Amino acid sequence: MPSPKFYLTTAIDYSNGDPHLGHALEKVGADCIARYRRLRGDQVHFLMGMDEHSQSVIQAAARAGVTPREWVDRMARTFAGYWERLECSNDDWIRTTEPRHVRGVVALLERIQRQRPGDLYVADYEGLYCTGCEEFKQPAQIANGHCIEHPTLELIGTKERNHFFRLSAYGARLLALITKGEFRVEPEIRRNEVVRLLEDGLQDVSISRQRLPWGIPFPGDSEQTVYVWFDALINYLSATGFPDTGYEKLWPADLHVIGKGITRFHCVIWPAMLLAADLALPRLVWAHGYVQWEGAKMSKTAGTAVSVDTAIARHGTDALRYFLLREVGFENDGNFTWERFDARYTADLADTLGNLVSRSLSMVERYRNGVVPAPSDDSPLDRAARATLDAYAQAMESNELQQGAALIIELASRANRYVEETAPWKLAKGKRDAELDRVLGELVRTVARLAIMSAPYMPEKAAAIWTALAASQRFDAVRFGDARALAVGGWRVAKTLPLFPKELLPKAL
Ligand SMILES: [Zn+2]
Repeated sequence: MPSPKFYLTTAIDYSNGDPHLGHALEKVGADCIARYRRLRGDQVHFLMGMDEHSQSVIQAAARAGVTPREWVDRMARTFAGYWERLECSNDDWIRTTEPRHVRGVVALLERIQRQRPGDLYVADYEGLYCTGCEEFKQPAQIANGHCIEHPTLELIGTKERNHFFRLSAYGARLLALITKGEFRVEPEIRRNEVVRLLEDGLQDVSISRQRLPWGIPFPGDSEQTVYVWFDALINYLSATGFPDTGYEKLWPADLHVIGKGITRFHCVIWPAMLLAADLALPRLVWAHGYVQWEGAKMSKTAGTAVSVDTAIARHGTDALRYFLLREVGFENDGNFTWERFDARYTADLADTLGNLVSRSLSMVERYRNGVVPAPSDDSPLDRAARATLDAYAQAMESNELQQGAALIIELASRANRYVEETAPWKLAKGKRDAELDRVLGELVRTVARLAIMSAPYMPEKAAAIWTALAASQRFDAVRFGDARALAVGGWRVAKTLPLFPKELLPKAL
């Protein structure tokens, strides 16, 4: 059977400032899913990118004394550097100023004009515009005269002539597709929000702005620029090569990972655009929660944003990836604090996982000169590990990344208890060789299984564990399915440096 295609995307980022931990959570979560899917053997295509046509680019460029083009080039380098430092394994990186994207936007608009000529029309528009969201806000999205997402920004009253998309015509069809599960929105709390939006009825949306100096000219109307959100959403399609033949090899996307603040765009407007163009809908939109700092959304404007580099400097990239997905989670909002980060680092990574690896390997070294004996076929630890592998697979298939991370530490904990229960040092003293062989083999097999389970979360540490096991198989060739029956007998373990050294813990920030 050919391996299934899995095309996943993250939201593309505005090029108006450095990313913070809020951005990092989304990329790390999507990367964890991409890495798990590759581990499973899927043909993964993982897309990330930049949203470069926003109005704030013009302002940021002017402030920096450069052209918008120079500004977005600079920001693209900055963001790419951050994602590299976070070990993002994206296969493609799209920028909405690229010709391939501009072609895709024009082709999609022309296709809608052709298929549903009445769904694009010109009308006057008047409303309150939030430059943070790059969106006209509805009354329900405004509190105390400000955008709910951007309480520190002023809303701008705007009146102009625009092109409109007849979104109102698609509500009932979208609702039916969601209800039948043909277009999925998860987690459930987000799905319910989208269903309520659709049940309340949709209004048509403006899809162009008048005479903006920066953006994609509206096809057939030189006075107008394609509205930045309409432009940005199409990146998921233009990155597949659309409209050229062959784009269907990737499209539809299997998963769009986004933040919960932009579900209206991704779960209402975007699928309606695709329906209007007679194109397949993405299979699943996953809307994660926010990283909070003292109970509030992390935000640069509010001065509550933790920089990605500061967080990496504390315990390294892998520990940060683990912490974000284990503690903050990928479903609901979660808090980031230095105290919790330090506590998880110490308890989960150093004292549980790191301790298991180092004691298992050093006992094989001490009692068997580094040569791994064959494990027993049916030990309590083996049974626990097999059950954990099943639960882990189930969690990962459902994008329950917090649960997946918890299961890694649970199994490592169980293995540490197994060491106490079997007391290999007593077996060695009593010359109970056969029993000692079985215990040591079982411990190494568990460590190897943990390396495989950790790979989506902590790619570098997982590879370091695997290298220390001197396994016969290359780590990048290992598949998740191999974890059930690993023949570790005969491997020759190497000494490792502490995986999660505690002496490097900073005293205070
Ligand atoms: Zn806003």
